[in-house]
Amino acid sequence: MRLLHSESEAATLAGCVLVPTMGALHQGHAALIRHAARIADARSCACAATIFVNPTQFNDPGDLARYPRTLDADLALCAAAGAAAVFAPDAGTVYPGWPEHRVAVPPLPPVATQPGLEDSHRPGHFAGVCQVVQRLFDLTHPAAAVFGEKDWQQLRVIRAMVAAGGAKMDVIPSPTVRDPDGLALSSRNRFLSPADRSRALALSTAIAAAAAVPDLPAARRALADALQTCGVAPEYAVIRDADTLGETTQATRTYRTLIAARIGSVRLIDNGPWSGGPQPASGA
Ligand code: AMP
Repeated sequence: MRLLHSESEAATLAGCVLVPTMGALHQGHAALIRHAARIADARSCACAATIFVNPTQFNDPGDLARYPRTLDADLALCAAAGAAAVFAPDAGTVYPGWPEHRVAVPPLPPVATQPGLEDSHRPGHFAGVCQVVQRLFDLTHPAAAVFGEKDWQQLRVIRAMVAAGGAKMDVIPSPTVRDPDGLALSSRNRFLSPADRSRALALSTAIAAAAAVPDLPAARRALADALQTCGVAPEYAVIRDADTLGETTQATRTYRTLIAARIGSVRLIDNGPWSGGPQPASGA
C-alpha cells in the first residue's frame, strides 16, 4: 500500500474509488474500504482512502482538539481492508497558505442548509465538509467515492454538491456498521463511559421502535417515547423525507428516522429507514 502526502502524489490517484475519512478508523470505515475495493476491482482501478482531520468542519474547538489521531493503526486497517493507497496530507497541502488560504467553499445545496438538523446544530459544519471534500476530489480526481449512511445528511449533501458541480463521479452509499447490541460505530464512542455507552443504545433502540410502527404520527410518538424512557433528551429526533430531509409530504416516497443527542460529553448521531408509509409502486 502506498502512503501519499503531496499534491503531486495525490494526482496519481486519478480514476480511483476514494474513501474520505478523518482517521481514528474502526470497522465501519473498514467496511467502506472493502466496499470501495470491490467496486475498484470490478472497474479495474485502485481503491484509495484519505486521512485528514479537517479543521474547517469542526464548530467546536474542543471536539477538534480531542479528535483521536491514530495514524499507524489507521494505515494497518486500510491495508487489511484492501486500499492500494492512502493519501494523508497536512493542512498546508489541503489549504495552501494555511491558516490563511483561499480554498473556496462550494455553493451549499438546500439539503445542507434547510432541514434544521446537523445544519442548525453544527453551524458551519457542512461548509467545512463541502470545502474539504471538493478539495480532496480536486486533488485526487476519483471516478467514484464511497460515503457511509451513518452520516445520512452528509451523504445527501455530497450527492447534491457533486450533482450541482456537474462532475462525472459516482457517490456510493455504504450501510452503517454497528456493534452487536446496535450502537453505530463512531470514532467518538471511545469517549463514552460504561454507563453512557449503555445510555447511547437509546438512539438505535428508538430508531427500531419507530420502524416497528406502520403509522407515521404513531411512529413519531414511539420515537420520542423510546428516547424519554431511556432518559435521553435529543437535539433532534425526527422522521423526514429521506432525500430532501425536509418535512414529509404527499410526494415523499422514502423516509428516514434521524437522531442527534448528547450522551455525557459525546455528541452522537444515528439514523435508519422508516418504511411504514406508502411504498413506491413496483417498477416506479
Ligand atoms: P469519519 O472519518 O468518521 O468522519 O467518516 C468517514 C466515513 O466513514 C464517512 O463516510 C462516514 O459516514 C463513514 N462512517 C463512519 N462511521 C461509520 C459506520 N459506523 N458505518 C459505516 N460508515 C461509517
